[in-house]
Amino acid sequence: MGSIHWNFKGDHVLVTGGSTGIGRETVVKLARAGAVVHFTYSRSGEAARQLVEQLASEGHTVNELQCDFSSAADIQRLTERLTDRQACPIDMIVNNAGVTADSSLYNMSDEQWDYVYQVNLRALFQLSRSMVKHLAVNRGTMVNITSVSGQIGMAGQANYSASKAGIIGFSKALAKELGPLGVRVNCVAPGYIETPMTEEMTQDRRRRLAQSTCLRRFGTSAEVADLILFLLSEHSAYITGEVIGISGGLV
Ligand code: NAP
Repeated sequence: MGSIHWNFKGDHVLVTGGSTGIGRETVVKLARAGAVVHFTYSRSGEAARQLVEQLASEGHTVNELQCDFSSAADIQRLTERLTDRQACPIDMIVNNAGVTADSSLYNMSDEQWDYVYQVNLRALFQLSRSMVKHLAVNRGTMVNITSVSGQIGMAGQANYSASKAGIIGFSKALAKELGPLGVRVNCVAPGYIETPMTEEMTQDRRRRLAQSTCLRRFGTSAEVADLILFLLSEHSAYITGEVIGISGGLV
């Protein structure tokens, strides 16, 4: 299948969690489509540097920013770096960084709950609050990565499912708040995607999960990234407040 020809020339995009998986693929596609891309990473510094080097050698402008979303101080520093004396070129944001810390509810610790809630949802609130006025000035677009777990729930993922459901409510509220200012906010809800997040599953579990989808396979990061780029682009100019699934028919 040929790749879609995207054009993001002149756009400045922030992608959180751009070092691996879905975020990385999104950074690559945006940079190759002409965008100036700023992406965050937390622990994968080497992968982030390699990504910047690879895209710079192709002539693209990409900037990596270290930020641990479990630290409010880090998030504050990130927004200070992105905004220069109140001005900020960012007109698109992909809130993609996310973590799991699975356990049955009975065994789930406060730490497991707080960590997933902080990185997946509270950081989204904190970062969005800092960036929202710039998005409004730039009449920008936001795409937030939720999950089918936030739509249908997954056993052993009460913390993750709750955080991802929270992202949906947050995004729908923000779409209402910012729509009159020309800013669109949408969610992408992936099912099972081949990334480092799902790599640790046993072959047997992967096979069973793949069988639970209509298409009998996991999706790829590239397939999710194309949906993200569609929702950022002018091609989706009349879409806001939506949750678009990409799950091979899981839901
Ligand atoms: P991934 O490869 O593990 O990527 C997760 C990203 O989040 C990495 O860039 C990681 O950065 C970053 N991150 C992790 N902890 C962080 C922290 N404390 N602070 C800031 N950033 C942090 O997983 P992925 O599958 O691509 O996940 C991307 C998004 O898709 C997530 O929101 C995930 O919930 C969602 N999703 C994935 C699937 C799936 O099947 N893979 C399904 C549904 C939804 P470092 O590596 O640099 O730490």
